Amino acid sequence: MASATGVTTTASQCEEKARLLRVYSFATLDYSRAVMVLHERSGIMSRQNYEEIRAFAEKARGLTEHARAELDRHLIEHGCF
Ligand SMILES: [Zn+2]
Repeated sequence: MASATGVTTTASQCEEKARLLRVYSFATLDYSRAVMVLHERSGIMSRQNYEEIRAFAEKARGLTEHARAELDRHLIEHGCF
């Protein structure tokens, strides 16, 4: 039984790509956490809290999109898929 490890899982992947992935993942987490709070607490929290968290969620969504665009651009420019 041959152990075909044809796929290279390089430990030394592009640092910039790793950094951008981290930023993307944190932004995504922030966004999903905010949406989860809105979902779980809607009807319980005050309108002011709701609007603050919704504003936070919108900001996080913007960051998520920005981070994804940066990552996409880096992957294309650097070719480090
Ligand atoms: Zn790269």
